[in-house]
Parts: sequence; structure tokens; C-alpha cells
Amino acid sequence: MTTKKFASQADLEEKKVSFVKLSDHAYAYTAEGDPNTGIIIGDDAVLVADTQATPAMAQDVIRHIRQVTDKPIKYVVLTHYHAVRVLGASAYKPEQILASQDTYDLIVERGEADKASEIGRFPRLFQNVETVPAGMTWPTMTFTGKMTLWLGSLEVQLLQVGRGHTKGDTVVWLPKERVLLSGDLVEFDATPYAGDAYFRDWPQTLKNLEKLNPLALVPGRGAALLGEDRVAQGLEMTRNFVSDLYASVKAGAEQGRDLKEVYRETYAKMKPKYGNWVIFDHCMPFDVTRAYDEATQYPDPRVWTAERDRQMWETLEG
Ligand SMILES: [Zn+2]
Repeated sequence: MTTKKFASQADLEEKKVSFVKLSDHAYAYTAEGDPNTGIIIGDDAVLVADTQATPAMAQDVIRHIRQVTDKPIKYVVLTHYHAVRVLGASAYKPEQILASQDTYDLIVERGEADKASEIGRFPRLFQNVETVPAGMTWPTMTFTGKMTLWLGSLEVQLLQVGRGHTKGDTVVWLPKERVLLSGDLVEFDATPYAGDAYFRDWPQTLKNLEKLNPLALVPGRGAALLGEDRVAQGLEMTRNFVSDLYASVKAGAEQGRDLKEVYRETYAKMKPKYGNWVIFDHCMPFDVTRAYDEATQYPDPRVWTAERDRQMWETLEG
């Protein structure tokens, strides 16, 4: 029997970057299922949502931005605290780094542990890890619920519409153009990572996003979604994954099965429908472990450390 390589350590193939214009003021930087960056260009400034894993990788985003505008990149938004999203921030030299207060609190509580854990999980994304400054990427401005930025005459809303992928999830919303940057609350042809998730909240949070009625959506991973039908598809596929996985794990836990049994059953049930999505084998052990925790005795996600990652993997995949 062959054992699976830990997390994404076997994933070494470079991805092709796309830089797509979504509306008069919004662009998507995507890379075949690698973490995306959303870009908003206002009258006097540029806003970047999610930074890439390292400053070296962020330089490629900046290169693409400079092909369409020379306005200063003043704002970086962190949709949540995960290292692959935030550790590239210094490359943009922003005036402000914006995040929800809940995201700030998670960085205080588990930022260091998450940084070490994620660097171990994704060697390809962190291949220039020496360009990451020591310590944490700290937001310089936080908000709760809603914050509005005016980039000249362009209104940009930062919204918390519920918990899902993490406790601090924030989306960026252009109300006039109806463009949504969702962070990892929505994925497309990519497996939702749910190791820090709130499974019972996530489906309703997606319904709240649906109510915004977006015309275009940049998911956390996967292609930008253009048009109401594609947006609806992305929201529905993400909701189905989260609901199917949690229903399976909850049923197993209620029958008194242990985590390893529940993992095997859930993996077998999910594989035919979702097994072709990128990072499926990476995410499933983390997702099932968190779902089992939530269905049993842990309302809040436990902190992942590099050591806990390995122990969990050994238990479920060893
Ligand atoms: Zn994430």
C-alpha cells in the first residue's frame, strides 16, 4: 500500500497565471487553483485583497497590476488570517493593512502556529520563504461587521456576513459593479479547506453572499466567475461540499464511530463527486478532523501546529 505524501508536499508543478478584468474597477489574479488575489483600482489608489504566500510571489501580482495602472497600492485587505494569504503583504508597501477584528484576534492567538504549519504543508507556494519578514503580518486597521472605503468616487465595502472558512472571514464588495472578492468562503474546482471552519455556519454565510446578487466573483482558489449563472454555480458547489462533508461526519460521530473510521467512510463518499478538485487529498484529513471536532466536543477550531498536522496525518493516512 502506498501512503499519501503529507498535505501538498507532492504538488510541485508550476501553475499558469491569469489576470482577468471583471468590471471597470476590478481584476482577478488567478493561477489554476493556487490562492487568488483580487485587485480593485479606484480613482486615486489600488486595493489588493489577499497577498500571496511570499513577497517574492506578490511581486508577480504587482507586475500584472503595473501593466494596467500606475496608481499607488495603498490598501491590502486580509480576507482571513491564513499564511498563504497574508505573508506576501510587505511587497506592496501599503499604507494600510485592513482586516476584521476577529481576524486580528486569530493572528494573536494562532498566527505563529499557522505560519509554521502552512509552510510545511505547501513547499511550492513558500519556495521563496526567506523573503517573508520575521514575525507576523499585522493589520493596521480593523473593523467589525462593515467598513466602507472610498477610493475617490468608488465605494468599496468590507463585509463580515458570517463565519465559514474561519471566524474572521471578510469579503470585499463593489456595490455598484456587483463584484465580490470572497476569499476562501467560496472555491471553484478547488477543494474548500475547512480545518479552521465553522461547518454549521458556513452554508448560511454562503446564502448571505448570494443575497448580494453578484455579477462576478473571485473565489479563494479557481477561475474568476463571470455572470450570475457561474457565480451561482460556485456558491452552490461550495455549499454542497461543506454540507455533504459535515452530514457524513456528523452521522458517523453520532453512531459512535472513531475519527479514522469516519474519515475512511467520508473520503469514499466524497471522492466520486469532488475528487477531481485541486488539493482534495490535502484537505480531506484536515476537513474531516475539524468536522468531527465540531460534531463532538469543540465548538471552536483547535489550533493546528506543524506537529499536530503530522500526528493527524499519521493517524489518518499512515
Ligand atoms: Zn484560507
